[in-house]
Amino acid sequence: MKDIAIIGTGFSAATIGYFLKNDLDFYEKSRGVGGRCSTRRVDNVGLFDHGLQYIKSENNEFKKFLGDHTVWQGNFKIFQNDQLKDDLNKERIINENGNNLLVKNLFKDKKVFVNKELKSLEKKNDFFLLNFKDNTQENYKTVIITAPYQQAYNLTKKFTDNYFLKLNYNMQPNLTLMVAFNKSLNLNLSAISFENDDVLGFAANENTKKKSLINKDLELWTIQSSLKYAIKNIYEYRNNKPSLIDEMLRSFSVKLKIDIKKDNIHYSDIHGWLYAYSINLDTAKCYWDKDLRLGICGDWFSGGNAESAFINAKHLVNLI
Ligand SMILES: Cc1cc2nc3c(=O)[nH]c(=O)nc-3n(C[C@H](O)[C@H](O)[C@H](O)COP(=O)(O)OP(=O)(O)OC[C@H]3O[C@@H](n4cnc5c(N)ncnc54)[C@H](O)[C@@H]3O)c2cc1C
Repeated sequence: MKDIAIIGTGFSAATIGYFLKNDLDFYEKSRGVGGRCSTRRVDNVGLFDHGLQYIKSENNEFKKFLGDHTVWQGNFKIFQNDQLKDDLNKERIINENGNNLLVKNLFKDKKVFVNKELKSLEKKNDFFLLNFKDNTQENYKTVIITAPYQQAYNLTKKFTDNYFLKLNYNMQPNLTLMVAFNKSLNLNLSAISFENDDVLGFAANENTKKKSLINKDLELWTIQSSLKYAIKNIYEYRNNKPSLIDEMLRSFSVKLKIDIKKDNIHYSDIHGWLYAYSINLDTAKCYWDKDLRLGICGDWFSGGNAESAFINAKHLVNLI
């Protein structure tokens, strides 16, 4: 019988792989590793970091764990009360060839099975039976789930109902627009955080992050929606992409006082994240049932960012 199965391949799973030296098998439902630390590669256009934008951390152990990274230098602003103000936060960790590499590099020597979605979990005498969506099965002594809260809960509720029901955890959506312009917008900005805006949350000029792998004739922006806009549109976004793209770009151009002509748009698309951010205020870092040998961790237990995924997963490793 196999020893430990880890479900997911984001920062949390990478942390477990880094600290736990046992024989580990990683199962990922998507076609590649990284989870929400995700980069879209568009042929002849370039790369969009349409998940995690950058990491802010003072934690040296975490930075060592990240390995190859750089600090995004540039002109950062906050849009507040109809005005652009300087954003003094300068410590923005990225990978200049796409943020997905921040996680992908951590899985180089790991045993990863992609396109393997765990559908259900059964406890047999002293092992778990894992049923995958492709109708295959595996047995493991220990299972660790690192999926976003709602997915982790659905997979484990027959074991964890009592624990999670009293905690009232949740995660919030995000809509992310990726757009490539034929001509520069001439904004001379690297990123803008929009405060209390109905439509926009954050915008990054990808050309100011990526040192290579970008079509130098184009200017690429990744524009994240506000929470309010995502809640309103997440369930129908696939059917409404043209109007959502129009609305987000209109809002962007009005706020930044620029004109965006239709023929300047070379490429555009929207990605919807149903479970993007965590808003949990609880102090628990993870779930571990030592008798059952079931563990759950993720950024969403507390913190809701890449560093908290690391801290929470490390905590689980210490318990195991
Ligand atoms: C749009 C956006 C912007 C963000 N910006 C930032 C930022 O600027 N800075 C920051 O620090 N954080 C940011 N975050 C949050 C950050 O991405 C997360 O905190 C971090 O990536 C969480 O890692 P994780 O491993 O806990 O979860 P995830 O990355 O979600 O990993 C979970 C993995 O489990 C897999 N999975 C789920 N269910 C199954 C199943 N049944 N079977 C198999 N596999 C499964 C998923 O496919 C996924 O790969 C952002 C997130 C989003 C969505």
